[in-house]
Amino acid sequence: MRRIVIIGGGIMGSAIAYSLARAGMVAEVTVVEPDPTYEFAATPRAVGGVRLQHAVPENVQMSLYGDTVYSAFDQHVTGGKVTFDPQFHRIGYLFLVEGAEAIASLEANVRMQKALGVEVDIFETAELRRRYPSFTFAGSDVGALSPGDGQIDPNAALMGYRRAAEGLGITYLKDRVVGLDVAGNRVTAARLESGATLPVEIVINTANCWSADVCAMVGVKVPIEPMRRQQFHFLSQDPVETFPAMRHLRGFAVRQHSGVYLCGHTNFNEPGGFNWDLQHEVFEEHLWPQLAEQCHAFETIKPRGGWVGHYDMNRLDGNPVIDWVDSVPNFLLCAGFSGHGLQHAPAVGRAVKELILDGGFRSIDLSRFSWRRIVDGTPIPDDGPKA
Ligand SMILES: Cc1cc2nc3c(=O)[nH]c(=O)nc-3n(C[C@H](O)[C@H](O)[C@H](O)COP(=O)(O)OP(=O)(O)OC[C@H]3O[C@@H](n4cnc5c(N)ncnc54)[C@H](O)[C@@H]3O)c2cc1C
Repeated sequence: MRRIVIIGGGIMGSAIAYSLARAGMVAEVTVVEPDPTYEFAATPRAVGGVRLQHAVPENVQMSLYGDTVYSAFDQHVTGGKVTFDPQFHRIGYLFLVEGAEAIASLEANVRMQKALGVEVDIFETAELRRRYPSFTFAGSDVGALSPGDGQIDPNAALMGYRRAAEGLGITYLKDRVVGLDVAGNRVTAARLESGATLPVEIVINTANCWSADVCAMVGVKVPIEPMRRQQFHFLSQDPVETFPAMRHLRGFAVRQHSGVYLCGHTNFNEPGGFNWDLQHEVFEEHLWPQLAEQCHAFETIKPRGGWVGHYDMNRLDGNPVIDWVDSVPNFLLCAGFSGHGLQHAPAVGRAVKELILDGGFRSIDLSRFSWRRIVDGTPIPDDGPKA
C-alpha cells in the first residue's frame, strides 16, 4: 500500500484527497491540516471568481473544468455526510486595457480563449458605455467581456470537498508537519507537531503560502511567498445597474459582491510575507478617487471595511508548480497559484490523481507548470492580469 501524506487541507489538498479517494485510494491518504477553522488559509478569504480569461491556455482549460465542477457541484463532488452548495452563478468578467500594445495582446488572448470554447468578445468603450451607462471607462480603450464567468462561495466549496473526502474515508489529522525525514533522495517520514511520525511514500505539498517552508524541509528553494491582497467593501447611495466584475490591466478591480461592492488591491512592490493590516487610507486616498472617476455614483459611497488575504505568489511567473521535485522524486509540489487557485482546484485534484495513478497528465497537459522551469529560471510567458 502506498502511503500518501498531503500537507495542507485547504481547497487544493482537499480536492486532491477527494480525487484520490474517488479513485479508490482511501486507505493510503492522510491529510495533515492544523486548523479546521482555516482562519489564516487563503481559501475562505478568496473572493470566489471562476474566470475564464487568462493568458496561459492551461489556465483557461483549468478554469473551464472548474466551471464544469462548480456549476454542478452536487453531481461532481459526492460522498459527504453533509452536503454544501457553493452557489455557482454567472457574473461575467470585463478586462479593460488601453494602448495599442495592450490591445494587441488582449486580442491574441481572446482568440486563444475562443478557440478553447470561451464566450468572449472585445468591445470599444462606446459600446461598453451603452451597456453599462453608469460607467465612464475613463483611461480604457477597449474591454474583453466574457459573460459566462462564475462566482462561488469559496468556503462552501472547501467544505464540500473536505466533507466528501472524509465521507469517502480519507483521514484529516489535526496536526502540523514540522519536518520531513529524507533518506537518499526520498522522503521517508513526516514529523508532526504533536510528536507523531507518519511514514510516507509520497508527499504532496499543498501548503500554499507556507509551501516554501515545507520545500525547505527537503532542502529546496522555491520563489513562492505570501503576497497581501486587500479587499474593501462599500455601499453606494445611488443605484448602479448590474455589471460584470471589472478589472483594469493596471490592477484596479471592482465588482458587485453579496449585496455590496468590492474593490481589490494588491501592491506588487511591497515586500512579500504575511501582513494582515487593512489599510483604510489606501481605499480613501488611492481607490476611492479611481472608483469615482469610473462611476459617478461612487462619489458618495459608504466604506464598509474589508479583509486581508494572501496569494501564494510565484515570483517567477505568477503561475503554479504542479510537479514532482526532481531532486526529491517522491515530493510533489502543488503551489504558486498566485490568486487563481480556487477556480483551478478541481482540475488540480484530477491532474494530481493522474500524475500518481496514471504516471502523467491525461485530461489537460499541465507539463509546462513544471519544477524544471523553477530550477532553470525560465518563466512561462504570461501577459494576463497578475492579481
Ligand atoms: C483575497 C483573495 C482573493 C482571492 N480570490 C480568488 C478568486 O476570486 N478566484 C480564485 O480562483 N482564487 C482566488 N484566490 C486564490 C485562492 O484563494 C487560493 O489560490 C486557494 O484558496 C489556495 O488553496 P490552498 O488549499 O492551496 O491554500 P490554503 O487555503 O491557504 O490552504 C493551505 C493550508 O495549508 C495548511 N498548512 C500550512 N502549513 C502547514 C504545515 N506545515 N503542515 C500542515 N498544514 C499546513 C494551512 O493551515 C492551510 O489551511 C484569492 C485569494 C485571496 C487571498
